[in-house]
Amino acid sequence: MGHHMFEYDATLTDAVFAYCRERLSMQPVPLDYGSLTHMPLADLDGLISPDGHDPEEILAFFKNELSQAVVSIDAPNFLAFIPNAPTKNSLLFDMVVACSGLNGTSWLESKGVVVAENQALAFLADLAGMPFGSGGAFVSGGSMGNLSGLTVGRDVGRALRPTVPPHEVRFAISSDAHSSIGKALHVLGIEALLVTPDDHRLTREHLAAALDADPHPESVVGVVATAGTTNAGIVDDIEGIGSYAREHGLWFHVDGAYGGAALFSPTHRHLLEGIRHADSFVVDPHKWLFAPLDCAALIYRNPTVARKILAQQASYLDVLHTGDDEHYEWNPSDFAIHLSRRARGLPFWYSLVTNGTRSYETAVQAAIDLAEHTALMIEKRDYVELVRPVSLSIVLFRRRGWTAEQYEEWSHQLLRDQIAFVTPTKWEGETVARFAFLHPDTAEELVAQILDTMRD
Ligand SMILES: *Cc1c(COP(=O)(O)O)cnc(C)c1O
Repeated sequence: MGHHMFEYDATLTDAVFAYCRERLSMQPVPLDYGSLTHMPLADLDGLISPDGHDPEEILAFFKNELSQAVVSIDAPNFLAFIPNAPTKNSLLFDMVVACSGLNGTSWLESKGVVVAENQALAFLADLAGMPFGSGGAFVSGGSMGNLSGLTVGRDVGRALRPTVPPHEVRFAISSDAHSSIGKALHVLGIEALLVTPDDHRLTREHLAAALDADPHPESVVGVVATAGTTNAGIVDDIEGIGSYAREHGLWFHVDGAYGGAALFSPTHRHLLEGIRHADSFVVDPHKWLFAPLDCAALIYRNPTVARKILAQQASYLDVLHTGDDEHYEWNPSDFAIHLSRRARGLPFWYSLVTNGTRSYETAVQAAIDLAEHTALMIEKRDYVELVRPVSLSIVLFRRRGWTAEQYEEWSHQLLRDQIAFVTPTKWEGETVARFAFLHPDTAEELVAQILDTMRD
């Protein structure tokens, strides 16, 4: 007899599968109440005990209490922050991955995982115009992708500039770069050359002017461009910045965590053409490529350089680096600051392969079309106005005359009424309203309904 924790329990399995089936069959997924829900912390008391509890009872507690105190990020009326809208196929395959004992760390353990994940990475690299042979790994999120890419860029930059003291190398970044970029530089112990572009979009000219004006331009080893800022969807002048970086020997990192998905948009992919210059590029399938959390694609132009800098060395790991399949041998662990990893790229791979790329094009395009249509709906209503032109699938707008408190109250009321989850943001110091569209099932009628609630 084996240990009882490892025994198959058919009844519990049916109960868990029934719960999953119920979630999967919801169309649409309800928002639920998040922080508006009373959280019965006392009910957790004593749950961890020497003898354990009845699993079905705890499943019911999760279903009836804990899972209600969330805002379901995959609901089509979740329009705050950046939503996450996993396809049904990706969710189903995430369950397959969970039950399959896959370790996504190394070629030795899981080449069957690695070849499939790499197929998805190679597809994205090709879509971005990066050269054949580009590759990397799926990491937990854009933050980890940015940190890993900038680590490689820093070390390459140091090697290229032996006369610059190592702690003095810097990256040029826009003041509109995502906060994870600043955090990455903090972790790396290096400074930023902060460039503040007019109208929030970093261009080649801004970068060149900042370097010209700087007393130590030789210490700048790289530059970060954003393909779709999180707050406003703005796409930097990736082509101009990328070509400048090539000409001046700078590491070029493109943060497309959110907006990199616009590579699938027939009308907007031209904005992203400059990604072909990238030395490192990040796009999150767990944002606008419809995969479950947590999944970011990190792609290097020259994976060999990244491997040299990031691969972990240990005598017990030597066996990972001495296979016979040298030609293809690929350890995802070598390309980021991680070792053990879930095969988190597989749900995305399965969804992409089964749904086909055309479905991805129409689903990404739907969010862009809705954003543009929303701009027209806003123009038709005299009590609201756009704060700036729509960029990708993000709409910033103001309700004329409202205070920050009124936006807050409106946002809470929308959630209480389960109409939508929309949170205000700040733009140039002013509190404004923001829609982040992503789910292709978000309806125009819903947007009209939300705008109508602002009338009074
Ligand atoms: C979301 C986002 C990030 C961070 O990605 P995570 O997956 O949340 O870690 C970085 N950059 C941009 C532009 C983003 O939108």
